[in-house]
Amino acid sequence: MAKENVDITNLEMLNVGVVGHIDHGKTTLLYRLTGKFADTHSEELKRGITIKLGYADTILESSKTGKKRYISFVDAPGHEMLMATMLSGAAIIDAAILVIAANEGIRPQTREHLIALQTKNIKQIIIVQNKIDLVDKEKAKKNYEDIKKFIKGTVAENSPIIPVSAQQEINIDKLKESLLELKIPERNLKEKPIFLVARSFDINRPGTKVKDLHGGVLGGILKQGNLKIGDEIEIKPGLSKIKANKQVYETIKTKISSIQKGNYKIKEATPGGSLALETELDNILTKADSLAGCVVSKPGSLPEITDKIKIKFELFKEVLGTDKQMAVEPLKPTELILLNINTSITVGQISKLKGAEAEFSLRIPIVPLVGGNTGIARNINGHWRLIGFGEII
Ligand code: GDP
Ligand code: MG
Repeated sequence: MAKENVDITNLEMLNVGVVGHIDHGKTTLLYRLTGKFADTHSEELKRGITIKLGYADTILESSKTGKKRYISFVDAPGHEMLMATMLSGAAIIDAAILVIAANEGIRPQTREHLIALQTKNIKQIIIVQNKIDLVDKEKAKKNYEDIKKFIKGTVAENSPIIPVSAQQEINIDKLKESLLELKIPERNLKEKPIFLVARSFDINRPGTKVKDLHGGVLGGILKQGNLKIGDEIEIKPGLSKIKANKQVYETIKTKISSIQKGNYKIKEATPGGSLALETELDNILTKADSLAGCVVSKPGSLPEITDKIKIKFELFKEVLGTDKQMAVEPLKPTELILLNINTSITVGQISKLKGAEAEFSLRIPIVPLVGGNTGIARNINGHWRLIGFGEII
């Protein structure tokens, strides 16, 4: 963990997701905005694609008004199979940048990601028309018109469309001004804390002396309330164990030993900005994202976990994310569906189906938070495709 000790407590905080079709320039754009490559694994760097959620934070300052704001960016995975990860990222953002490469235009994932944002109730969207350096004026204009048509009637209908070249650093300032104009959602500080875990890590280098070891780290965002160093916390569903041939989950209790927002060490966290909570847990428990999808709060304040949920759903007319058009067929009894609840991803089998309501029996239990929503994805030819959305009832 870094050691910067600047006071960022009074800055406005916003969490912004960067989404769009693979290769349209999301990671490059993030680098231009923050000067950092989103926190990715070497495996991902080798393959040149983001396969997990990456973070990069920055403090933006307006060159016109001097207004300052702290922004945590979440880089969505570019791989089409990982729409589910993208949706779990959508659970932790306030706003999004949708990147569309001007030379390629609207692609299947452009559509899928926009609908996914809509599904997750993300209403503030900035559209970046990227790679403007690769097209002539005519083509740029045509692409702009295509984008206009594409967003008509969607949540992004009135979103600004900003022509940019992430690679050639064209118009990045304009994008920054736009990010400074986004509304900060109202934060609920009085309720019990709800922290959604998107990643979990072992941050120790191999060979670290025992006395210098850091405890297990949870990465994610605080939805409401506050958390401070020394707080006792509970983590649910927690640790998965096999007991009497059955998979069971055990709530984990621990203490927060340090908190970091981006590169800044802080003592107390309020909503806004992505956080790393260092705990007193053994790193074995947190390494390789093993606690991703969990929810953290004060001991005794989270609802009981459940592996049975009932949702009210709505299906799309067409399957999203595919190149060719395909109508969505109705849900089938006993069908396996991929669901996204909070930051967790779980397969659920339909156990009861009636009208627009379905009951699921889940592979991995969830923490049923009030007003929880979910994407509904079906496996089509080996790929999970978004076919609808639902609300837990
Ligand atoms: P991602 O998959 O959406 O994260 O896309 P990347 O950021 O990895 O970019 C994919 C490729 O497009 C890389 O080779 C980038 O260098 C290139 N690229 C990104 N932005 C631009 C741009 O504005 N202009 C041009 N010419 N290339 C770009
Ligand atoms: Mg990328």
